[in-house]
Amino acid sequence: MTHLWEFHGGIEPLGHKSLSNQTPIVQAKIPPFLVLPLLQNIGEPAQPIVQIGDKVLKGQIIAHCHAYDCSLLMSVPVHASSSGTVKAIESRAVPHPSGLMAPCIVIETDGQDTWAEHTALTDYKTLSPEVVRDHIAKAGIVGLGGAGFPAHIKLKPDSIDTLIINGAECEPYITCDDRLMREHAHDIIAGAQIIGHVLGGTKRCVIAVENNKPVAYQALLEAVDGWVEVVKVPTLYPMGGEKQLIQVLTGNEVGRAQLPASIGIVVHNVETTRAVYRAVQLGQPLVSRVITVTGTGVEKPQNLEALFGTPMQALLEQCGYQSDIQRLIMGGPMMGFALPNDKMPIIKTTNCLIVSRAIEPKPLAKPCIRCGACANVCPINLLPQQLYWYSKAKDLKKAQDYHLFDCIDCGCCSYVCPSHIPLVSYFRYAKAEIRATERDRKTAELAKQRYEFKKFRLDRSKKERAERHKKAVSDKSKQAEIQAAVERVKAKKAQSEKPTANS
Ligand code: SF4
Ligand code: SF4
Repeated sequence: MTHLWEFHGGIEPLGHKSLSNQTPIVQAKIPPFLVLPLLQNIGEPAQPIVQIGDKVLKGQIIAHCHAYDCSLLMSVPVHASSSGTVKAIESRAVPHPSGLMAPCIVIETDGQDTWAEHTALTDYKTLSPEVVRDHIAKAGIVGLGGAGFPAHIKLKPDSIDTLIINGAECEPYITCDDRLMREHAHDIIAGAQIIGHVLGGTKRCVIAVENNKPVAYQALLEAVDGWVEVVKVPTLYPMGGEKQLIQVLTGNEVGRAQLPASIGIVVHNVETTRAVYRAVQLGQPLVSRVITVTGTGVEKPQNLEALFGTPMQALLEQCGYQSDIQRLIMGGPMMGFALPNDKMPIIKTTNCLIVSRAIEPKPLAKPCIRCGACANVCPINLLPQQLYWYSKAKDLKKAQDYHLFDCIDCGCCSYVCPSHIPLVSYFRYAKAEIRATERDRKTAELAKQRYEFKKFRLDRSKKERAERHKKAVSDKSKQAEIQAAVERVKAKKAQSEKPTANS
């Protein structure tokens, strides 16, 4: 039996998982229009390579990653998720709490869902890790657990000895990973083997599954081969956090500002792992994912395999959308965010939509009583009450001194606070303020540099002009002197050649 360690804090919220995990994954319908944002990942947006009116096939690259060599950058290409015609390349609302607009490619689908020609690497074991990694980068795969980090960046063979496949799925309501592990265990194991090959052969590979998913655990056990271990971990939120899972499985703590790779560990989500399998063994780029649609606002909560770009409204209608919904959340209730409407598209990081018909009024926040409950549950061992004081007082320097940016927004502190203080909202706000100030500072710095460079250029060309003028003047006077000298010589010569009276 694998020895397990513990992480500090954590909570056990009600799971609400049985709402959506009782039925198999169904295929979502192809919508009449797909709206594909150019940025669906952490990093740089892709660049469109199609034009309005172009016919496209499913899986065809329509926006290339930021540079020709995809494997080098925090950028991934965007593929057409079904066949059709490009109708627009313009700004549309994308999933964001503010209803942010961002550049998108809009495709009118033809209903045929015809695949573009695609190449599998079935003999990947005979190929170098670099070739397989480049293939994965071109397939547009990002972390599908919700973070959206380009997967190929975490596939560099950098002395990695432990590969962890994250099937913890600890947030309430979300069950897409649970259903995926039950129904596609073989794909996940095959994906883990491919990742192991790309990482240059890791010593250990562990698939971690929370002990509230016995069917998924059993399915993985039956599919597993000798190299991969399947391990049950306790059901405790946020077990699925990268650093928490590493600590529980290996006893190693990933330090502040440290990446797991620096201690020889890499973590990939189960659905990302399956996407790697589909890209390498079937040649299919990432064009769809499994999404949980759940909550009181839909008649048939379930998991659906949906094409990226599908409008949320279409997906909700397939699940028996109630017209009187009050709230739509993307992600889980702990780390997700409320959306202003259902007009936005499904993107690579959309793992769950929670639709609520009624919202219980939130109790009014009362003053902090310094009970310390928030610190007891913080999985990062922070002092949330201190962070709260400084964030509220807008003393952002102090908040940073108390490691504001180590906070993973898990919401455990808000969940237990007896004064109902929305602590995590304060922390998100403070982080956004600091990022905005930093952005403004960089913009001002850049503008200053540009101004100084322009001034330097103007001064330099002014100086050069003056020097040229001075030289021209000096050349002119030199020329005049030479001319005068020539004239004098000529005059002298003429004088000497004049016949004298005696000659
Ligand atoms: S849990 Fe709430 S009341 Fe208690 S110390 Fe933290 S912020 Fe204050
Ligand atoms: S939201 Fe941040 S401060 Fe609160 S418990 Fe989670 S990590 Fe700690």
